[in-house]
Amino acid sequence: MKESTPLLPGATDASGRPATLGVMGGGQLGRMFVQAAQAMGYATAVLDPDADSPAGLISHHHIRSAYDDTEGLARLAALSDAITTEFENVPAPALAALAAQRPVAPGAACVAIAQDRAAEKAHFMRCAADGSGVRPAPYAAIDTPEQLAAVADDLLPGILKTARLGYDGKGQARVKDRAELAAAWDRLGRVPCVLEKLMPLRAECSVIVARGANGDCVSFPVQKNTHHDGILAVTEVHEGAIEPALARRAQAATIAIAQQLGYVGVLCVEYFLVDDGQGGLDLVVNEMAPRPHNSGHYTQNACDVSQFEAQVRAVAGLPLRPPVQHSPAIMLNLLGDLWFAPGREAAVTPPWDALLALPGTHLHLYGKASARPGRKMGHLNITGPTVAAVRDTATKALALLGLPPL
Ligand code: ATP
Ligand code: MG
Repeated sequence: MKESTPLLPGATDASGRPATLGVMGGGQLGRMFVQAAQAMGYATAVLDPDADSPAGLISHHHIRSAYDDTEGLARLAALSDAITTEFENVPAPALAALAAQRPVAPGAACVAIAQDRAAEKAHFMRCAADGSGVRPAPYAAIDTPEQLAAVADDLLPGILKTARLGYDGKGQARVKDRAELAAAWDRLGRVPCVLEKLMPLRAECSVIVARGANGDCVSFPVQKNTHHDGILAVTEVHEGAIEPALARRAQAATIAIAQQLGYVGVLCVEYFLVDDGQGGLDLVVNEMAPRPHNSGHYTQNACDVSQFEAQVRAVAGLPLRPPVQHSPAIMLNLLGDLWFAPGREAAVTPPWDALLALPGTHLHLYGKASARPGRKMGHLNITGPTVAAVRDTATKALALLGLPPL
């Protein structure tokens, strides 16, 4: 994308077609991108095979085709002035085919690295060596029985993760010793994996950055994340959540990771906070997502620019400004489990009215027709004048939902 030619919202081309942003994938992240793009005056096009996809339902155009369907991709390219993706498992060749016709951000090469844990960790190692100072957990790539046998003792106990297609803790096995490691690799189908040393996590955090084609890169504040059963449950972004010196290091490391990729778009990098052995905490880089991230949803209500507007700006070649957080924030993920009271078969809509009666609550539902346990149905952003006020509302909201306290 040429820096000199931003795609201005509301502009029309010679044929009268309005400025249109395309997105590969119609899940909730695509939906919130579409909402941000439409709020600014762009038309949108979504490619997703599902007739009821959350983003397809609200987009100007919904191309219902497989992600690698040549005709579908050609239609998306014909309808769109610039294209992005909302999930990392979009086939890299599809992005490359689109890129031959339209600006695509992030590019296929960056997405390919984020799709593969081994390539991703190799990139993190390069960035650490170049001065970001934040390394991944000790690890070994396992593609062959020989590599499995050669694993260093020091990596055990560890977590075996499939190199590709893992999410929400799926495609992972915790292993104590070599026998468990071999059994787990068998169970995972002997596909390429990485074995990571099990780290003494004290907390987890993530950082979202947006980078433009001109190299400008801005960082959102650092999010503190709590997972339940491998799925993000709560994100907290306020004074006292993360020690400022660690937060600054995480932001600098994330910017370095984006810059060294020549990345364009929104990128999220996840970190572990681990014991440094001297009574303090150290940072370890976990993984990255080449798109907005669940942990960045609080930006919709707590920052002057949301992560989705930042994605729109980056993709359209519009200016990126450093985001300003104007309120402490807590985000609660709303999973499908909330629709099912213990012992009840039928889904019951949760008490949104009671939640919305609490101060500073902002409900975001993704328009998914049916709730299922573990399915991401929406999130609740909580803002307020003080950290204490936000925590108090979060405590009440969690109790209303029957979820564990902060
Ligand atoms: P998602 O896509 O939802 O972020 P994922 O399936 O890609 O998840 P990871 O982020 O690699 O998986 O791991 C999921 C969670 O498991 C982490 O957030 C962390 O809580 C824990 N975990 C992963 N790797 C390690 C490790 N090496 N040591 C300790 N805990 C770990
Ligand atoms: Mg993760």
